[in-house]
Amino acid sequence: MTSECRACRAGLEHCHGALIHHAYLRAECTEDGCATPDGVHALHLDCSAVGCACDPVSSGAVSAHRVG
Ligand SMILES: [Zn+2]
Ligand SMILES: [Zn+2]
Ligand SMILES: [Zn+2]
Repeated sequence: MTSECRACRAGLEHCHGALIHHAYLRAECTEDGCATPDGVHALHLDCSAVGCACDPVSSGAVSAHRVG
């Protein structure tokens, strides 16, 4: 039994943190000092999902990410 994910076992560059996508700011990772590229994150979040309000449009208006 192991806590390593498939990418860990394969020795791939990846990150276990969540990449938070901001509307107007750079995407940032929940892992301090994360240096892996955006595309290798297993988890992606809209910043509105973590209480960020950098996008005034997303608060109440149409969102392409809305799932219901
Ligand atoms: Zn891993
Ligand atoms: Zn934001
Ligand atoms: Zn990361």
